Amino acid sequence: MAEYKKDEIAQPAFTMAQVMEMMKAFAAELKKPTELEQKKIDDDRNRLLRQAAIRRNEAKIEEEARISTQRGCAHVKRDNSPAWGGQVNSDGYVRPMCTICRKIMPEIKAPVEWIANGVNMQDKEIFPKLTEEMLLEWHKVQGGAKPVTKPVGMNLTDEEKAELAKELVAR
Ligand SMILES: [Zn+2]
Repeated sequence: MAEYKKDEIAQPAFTMAQVMEMMKAFAAELKKPTELEQKKIDDDRNRLLRQAAIRRNEAKIEEEARISTQRGCAHVKRDNSPAWGGQVNSDGYVRPMCTICRKIMPEIKAPVEWIANGVNMQDKEIFPKLTEEMLLEWHKVQGGAKPVTKPVGMNLTDEEKAELAKELVAR
C-alpha cells in the first residue's frame, strides 16, 4: 500500500466557486443559438412582425370601411321602415342595431310594455321615423324619460299606435 505524504496530495487547481462559474459559462455557451439557428429566429420574428403589421393594416381598413358604410347608411329599409333591430335583453335594455350597416346604438331602457310584449322597431306604424339621432337622444334623456305607458304591439288600436308614435318621435 503506497503511502502519501500530506504535501503530495494534489491541490485542486480550481476552487469550487470557479468550477461553478465555468459550468455556468459553458451552459450559457451551449444555449447560444448557432448562426443558422439565429438566422431562423430572426426570420421567424420578422415574419411575425410583418404579419402583425398586415393584420393591423387590414383591421384599420376594415374599420374605416365600416365607419364609412355606417355614415352613409340612413338606417332605413326599402319600404321606408326603420332598419333598427333589437330585443329586450335580460338586463332590461335594448341595444338597437341597424340590420343594414350593423351600427349598434347605445342602450335604451325598455319600457315595461316592451319587456312584456317585446318590441319591433321596424314597425312603421309605431316608429314612422327612427333616426340615429333620435335613438341617441332617447338614450341620453333616458334618466328622465317617462316609460311608455301604453302597450306596444298587437294590442294597440290604430289610434293608440299613432299617439304612441307621436310620443316616441317627440322624445
Ligand atoms: Zn344602418
